[in-house]
Amino acid sequence: MSSVRSSSLGFPRIGEQREWKKNLEAYWNQKISKEEYGTKQKALRLANVQKQKDAGLDLIPVGDFTHYDHVLDTAVAFGLVPDRFSYDGGEVDLDTYFAIARGNDNAVAAEMTKWFDTNYHYIVPELNSREPELVHNRWLTLIEEAKKELHIVGKPVLLGPVTFVKLSKQYGNRSFVDHVRSLLPLYTTVLNELADAGVEWIQVDEPILVGDVSEEEWSIIEEAYDWFAKSAPNAKILLQTYFEGIDSLDRATKLAVAGLGLDFVYSNNLEQLKGNGFPKDKTLAAGLIDGRNIWRTDLTETHSIVEEILTVVSKEQLIVQPSCSLLHVPVTLKHEQKLASDLKAALSFAEEKLTELDHVKSVVNKQQGPERLQAGKEAIEALNQSASRTNKEVREALERSKKEDSKRKVPADKRMELQQEVFKFPSLPTTTIGSFPQSPEVRKTRLQWRRGEISNEAYETFINAEIKRWIDIQEEIDLDVLVHGEFERTDMVEFFGEKLGGFEFTSNGWVQSYGSRCVKPPIIFGDVYFQEAMTVKETLYAQSLTEKPVKGMLTGPVTIYNWSFPRTDLKPGDVVNQIALALEKEVLALESAGITVIQVDEPALREGLPLKRRNWTDYLNQSVVAFQLSVKTVQPQTQIHTHMCYSDFQDIIQAIDGLDADVISIEMSRSHGELITAFEDYTYSKGIGLGVYDIHSPRVPTEEEMETSINRALQVLDQRIFWVNPDCGLKTRKEPETVEALKAMVKAAKNKRKELVVK
Ligand code: GLN
Ligand code: ZN
Repeated sequence: MSSVRSSSLGFPRIGEQREWKKNLEAYWNQKISKEEYGTKQKALRLANVQKQKDAGLDLIPVGDFTHYDHVLDTAVAFGLVPDRFSYDGGEVDLDTYFAIARGNDNAVAAEMTKWFDTNYHYIVPELNSREPELVHNRWLTLIEEAKKELHIVGKPVLLGPVTFVKLSKQYGNRSFVDHVRSLLPLYTTVLNELADAGVEWIQVDEPILVGDVSEEEWSIIEEAYDWFAKSAPNAKILLQTYFEGIDSLDRATKLAVAGLGLDFVYSNNLEQLKGNGFPKDKTLAAGLIDGRNIWRTDLTETHSIVEEILTVVSKEQLIVQPSCSLLHVPVTLKHEQKLASDLKAALSFAEEKLTELDHVKSVVNKQQGPERLQAGKEAIEALNQSASRTNKEVREALERSKKEDSKRKVPADKRMELQQEVFKFPSLPTTTIGSFPQSPEVRKTRLQWRRGEISNEAYETFINAEIKRWIDIQEEIDLDVLVHGEFERTDMVEFFGEKLGGFEFTSNGWVQSYGSRCVKPPIIFGDVYFQEAMTVKETLYAQSLTEKPVKGMLTGPVTIYNWSFPRTDLKPGDVVNQIALALEKEVLALESAGITVIQVDEPALREGLPLKRRNWTDYLNQSVVAFQLSVKTVQPQTQIHTHMCYSDFQDIIQAIDGLDADVISIEMSRSHGELITAFEDYTYSKGIGLGVYDIHSPRVPTEEEMETSINRALQVLDQRIFWVNPDCGLKTRKEPETVEALKAMVKAAKNKRKELVVK
């Protein structure tokens, strides 16, 4: 009897207790030798492969392991090392590899950016003067290792050539298409060597297929896979996509590959599949278990999706799998001891997701009865019933908010006048983005407090001393709007998640963010509600020390949502708005305590943009409404600021304007003036600060450099609306360089003011 098989797209690298991170950092800090590092990572890599085998997978991904990042792995396999790392061919050694990722004394690191719309960051390959060559078939090495050590013939996982080039910086005068072409023979060698080594399937990821694919991209995809069909005829390619549906699924099914991997969780692939059919001679790998969120699956629903798919393809054509690599979820629930039992029962991390998958497979294959599918559904239903999930007041407030206008009553130009009467700021007012350096002492003291080693009073005294010190420093520098410095916060989302109702925290739910850096996103499991003031105490204390306004600092609703694992039983817009309404209470608490300037940060707004452009408007409208709701009821005299990182704003400038914030600060220094061009075509009339210096580097910029930045901005922005500030929070900087840079910044602003007066 024919049967369905199971597969997975990749497994978290970090290990159950972040062993991977610890190994890396031990090696970087010279605590262990290269040999010891290699041995430890190998053990972890093999344990992950074995674990997936034990979970019942038929096709086990191999080669998704990395020492840092899989995009960088692909680049160095082809000898694509940036020129500045003095590399002259051959297999790239581990230290050069790390230098590309992290920089060294002689050369700056390669850029890092977000992997599609996830919170994973990859190292951006640089296609420079070096001609690509296959310097190491790393996939073959890893396949042979698993075969030798575990007797497992894995499924190699490769990043496909078209996506790889699309994610790279394309230097030189070679076109996109020609860059892809230059890689094709190298991929052919990799594929042939893998086929010769006896692997059955080879997974080649081309996630760019789920975005807006241009005709040029489609045709180079077709050309590339035609080429492989001819030049590597024995390699059975499973062309893998994830995160969304493919717009022209019919075109994708005609590609010259043996199998196609599609996401059935985040897409309309199923409707298209039923409409178009699927070729009888191809395999369909169906992503059925959500690889991006942490909720248990209702397997009865999954099972009915499988049945629908089986009206189009036969069982032997079908592989069941998660919707994407499990890289984006924590490893295991095994070590979670503190979660409420109804919540824990409704969660599923990487290991548990593989078990879910195995249940689906065995029921479809009739090795188990359908009762196998019930447990997940029951756990979710039980959680939905639990009192913690629904808060009547929150639901009512949410419904009310839908009927009202989300905007502030007094229009922005009028507010600007009213606020200027109150604040009497000089032209080009100066401020910072919020955080000041978190010294080792600050971090140590917070940790001691969290562990209960020092009392609340002692901790508060320490934080207050730090706030006072920095208020004095800011007074001395003569900034116009001061901040308290955010010393009490480790993370801008965690801080609010811990204080708002409806959030839960795992003890060990780590997910890789970039390199060895892992984050533990909060879980939004219930209705979000305001419990007690979260920021008033520190802000008020800071305000009591100065005559100048101190900005209250909040993380905005969209950012809190995007950096958490959200519940999925409510619409995203409803969850975001619940957060907004809870934050509104904090905003009002600050205002009634006498705080007159309040900043609501939205650094994650830009990066949450959907992969398909046609979905942008809905997302942006929803984000604008949420932001507006969080500040809607303040007095017109209260000045609302917001801040966003990244300068890639050209496309969304209208939405940014729509936030209706009195003052916005945007990162600028890394955008090489592109942002300026955006303002040539768009008249912005509210307060705006384009960061006049780059906080990502320890280098202290000169007064002149900052004056140049200001001048550049004033070419397109009215001097009456321009603010002078650094381009992001100063948390990661050291104190001396921070003070020096801010002094120079304020001097630059003052010089420029004088000039403006003379004119
Ligand atoms: N207020 C925050 C800070 O200064 C903003 C951080 C951010 O933009 N990511 O740290
Ligand atoms: Zn920022």
